[in-house]
Amino acid sequence: MSLSSRLQKVLSPVLKDIKAYKVQPSTGMVKLDAMENPYTWPEEIHQQWLDVLKDVHVNRYPDADGTHVKAELKRVMGISDEYSVLLGNGSDELILLLMQGVLKPNATILAVEPSFVMYKHIAKTLHLNYHGVDLSADFDIDLDTTVSAIIKTQPAMIFLALPNNPTGNIFSDEKLKAIIEATSGLVVLDEAYTAFTEYDSQQWLAKYEHVIIMRTVSKIGLAGLRLGYLFAHHRIVNEIDKLRLPYNINTLTQATAQFILSHNDMLDQQTQALCAQRTLLMQQLGDFDVFECYPSEANFILVKVDEARSAIDIFEQLKQYNILIKCLDGGHPLLVNFLRFTVGKEEENQALIKALSDILH
Ligand SMILES: *Cc1c(COP(=O)(O)O)cnc(C)c1O
Repeated sequence: MSLSSRLQKVLSPVLKDIKAYKVQPSTGMVKLDAMENPYTWPEEIHQQWLDVLKDVHVNRYPDADGTHVKAELKRVMGISDEYSVLLGNGSDELILLLMQGVLKPNATILAVEPSFVMYKHIAKTLHLNYHGVDLSADFDIDLDTTVSAIIKTQPAMIFLALPNNPTGNIFSDEKLKAIIEATSGLVVLDEAYTAFTEYDSQQWLAKYEHVIIMRTVSKIGLAGLRLGYLFAHHRIVNEIDKLRLPYNINTLTQATAQFILSHNDMLDQQTQALCAQRTLLMQQLGDFDVFECYPSEANFILVKVDEARSAIDIFEQLKQYNILIKCLDGGHPLLVNFLRFTVGKEEENQALIKALSDILH
């Protein structure tokens, strides 16, 4: 039997519908594409970290429950003791575990669009029904359409990112309340960008037991660690925890997270610096006539390019200047001719503005 007939026979039919998550090559480039924190650590803290790592032994399995990391996250992130915490290898893994938790024939996942692409991708890999409800042209929730979709599809789980990626906005309390109350399923509030906003979803968790809050340390300077966390009612967390593979958070990640969370003030300062840069960058991008900038409560800025210019061309030309951003064109009908700029450090943002001045003059 040829390999192709063998694969044809055995492979899951979903593989025909999905593509591997593609990361753009970025060696040597100014990276303004992936919402990473651009700052490194002061020499002294770097040295202390290396000292911690000296005493870490990788011959043993990690702490299976991540007890210390959970306690440190609770303390530093102000998570109430009444909730249980679950750790994931990035919040991407948590999305997978959450969806596995509601996996059964005909179960539906609902999300608004455009939003974080992994909701749809992971739902598809699991053979779950995925229902995307379009946001309005100004990227707000269309409440009537959304509530009708909830009533019609009876989703087992709804995903909402607050602030939303790639649009940068937070939906109104009124709309969130209506959605949370309309569903008989679970609601995951994805706060990947919580560090960059005053907004805090814990109010929803305090009121509704079927809400789950999910966060990550990726956007506050620890993307390489792969550490996400969620917190919710212990009955929910206990069920999802059954699906977690043993030792999903490796020893180096646990030791590093524990160490650096005790220096949370430094991470906070970096976040504050990025928020200041966001204000400046927003203003400078807005000065280009062909750009329309959307308000952002995250560490990126969504920009609509006037039809006189092509977002794809600008994206390609920026690469000639060694600057990598995200071109959203082609991702969703509402994002035709849109770009997304991650806020970088001052010199990176200024290199971007200078390159754009050349390109758009
Ligand atoms: C970046 C991002 C994530 C994934 O974070 P990881 O912890 O790095 O897997 C989840 N949700 C949203 C909305 C994001 O933008």
